[in-house]
Amino acid sequence: MPEQSVLLIEDEESIASFVTMYLEKEGFAVVSAVAGAAGLALAREKQPRVILLDLMLPDIDGFEICRQLRQESEVPIIMLTARDASTDKVLGLELGADDYITKPFDPRELVARVKSLLRRSEVMASGADAPLSVGPLTLDPGRREVTINGEEAKLTAREFELLHFMIVNRGLALSRQQLLERVWGYEFFGDTRTVDVHINQVRKKLGDSVRIETIRSIGYKLTD
Ligand code: CA
Repeated sequence: MPEQSVLLIEDEESIASFVTMYLEKEGFAVVSAVAGAAGLALAREKQPRVILLDLMLPDIDGFEICRQLRQESEVPIIMLTARDASTDKVLGLELGADDYITKPFDPRELVARVKSLLRRSEVMASGADAPLSVGPLTLDPGRREVTINGEEAKLTAREFELLHFMIVNRGLALSRQQLLERVWGYEFFGDTRTVDVHINQVRKKLGDSVRIETIRSIGYKLTD
């Protein structure tokens, strides 16, 4: 597989170097810019698979860069926000960013989010029906079939949707609320215990083919 390239637009050298180090360790090719104009130019020239974008840059701010990038491409963008300012996040997401992470962040969390975004864009590019594999498990959205080492596992429609969403977002901690909204629908006003019940059913049916960890006081995370 060719190296996946990530463009990092960040003016703080310490953050830029440790993010670069982690991403390179995970096999990504990183190109970086320390200012907005240079970042935009690199985005056009290098066509990276993901862009990590700091909001506070010396020349053009991150919001403006995001707006300009969105006029030209659908490249996944993760904003690096300096503080826990929810207005920044909302504005960034409205301008077309796909995700955000608040500084200071755990680089492993950033890597997990980059991978998740790449998977989502691969799913979009290859069509929503392309089969997804995690370890010995394969989920085929077209056939609505789950197999473990080729043996079919019988899941209900809801269990299937739940597993599908968790596989696309594997490596990320997903809250019960998030799962309810995305799997049951935004109009669902049920109890979040509904999620726990379904997770337990899925765990039983999948055995140890995949791991669904309980993340205390948050929700669940699927790992290989
Ligand atoms: Ca900055």
